[in-house]
Amino acid sequence: MLRLREIPIAFSGSPLDRADHVRSDPAALAELATPDARLLRLDGLAPVLVDEGALEWTTLADAPEGSELVFLGLDGAVACFAPVPPPTALGTPHAGPANWAAMSVLGADELAIYGSARALISWHARHRFCAMCGAPTVLAKGGWSRSCTNAACATEHFPRVDPVTIMSVENDGKLLLGRQPRFPAGRYTTLAGFVEPGETIEEAVARETFEEAGVRVRDVTYVASQPWPFPSSLMIGCHAHTDDTEIVIDATELEDARWFTRDQVAQALEAGDRGEVGEAFNAPPKHAIAHVLLRNWVEQGG
Ligand SMILES: [Zn+2]
Repeated sequence: MLRLREIPIAFSGSPLDRADHVRSDPAALAELATPDARLLRLDGLAPVLVDEGALEWTTLADAPEGSELVFLGLDGAVACFAPVPPPTALGTPHAGPANWAAMSVLGADELAIYGSARALISWHARHRFCAMCGAPTVLAKGGWSRSCTNAACATEHFPRVDPVTIMSVENDGKLLLGRQPRFPAGRYTTLAGFVEPGETIEEAVARETFEEAGVRVRDVTYVASQPWPFPSSLMIGCHAHTDDTEIVIDATELEDARWFTRDQVAQALEAGDRGEVGEAFNAPPKHAIAHVLLRNWVEQGG
């Protein structure tokens, strides 16, 4: 029997204390930034792992010359930092092979620390100039904002979090799943799309489902959310019902979309747990919230 509560949400649950009182107090932060404070080792945006499959840490004494440092939080009394890489070292904003490899070996705590560090340093590296006046910006509040250096502007900029709806859509015991051409062979997953200005979550679910699959939904409910640091999404997992059975795909977004029975979804998830491809389709990996949505739907059906 599948149990949703046994599935942790990847990238959530960081054990670090974000210590807002420290962030906003430069003197307190400077006191914690000793040469033996912890510094997360990174290769651009990618994690560096020790042989045992854990995140590698060094100390502030090893910080790259002149690099900006983000205060990740406190591990007990020890301050933890991450260096902002140069823009030339960013690579793709999407999850690459090193990220998927890290997801498969890192524990939940470490994955959460890496995820928030990546989202933050990636934002810093891409926001070195003020969007209002074009002057350079500098890291502020321990890395949880940036300030414009033009005194006449002095705009404060905050890290982005981009809301994305991702939805399991059901019709009479069948689930709507789609695939994009870039997906691995046989992979089908829940539809998803960014929330647009002026929309509720429910409206974004309805619009995206209709745009991508031509299906009108009703009764949208929230299931779970996930920070997804590639580069800065907050995935908002929902469930919805539809009375439509005909699928009309948007070929610019999807290669295919189909209905799958609860048995097919359950079998695909169980096959995925064994590292195998399901009979009807290849289920999304457990680190993606789509996997959680599929498990939730299978469980709801008893
Ligand atoms: Zn400015």
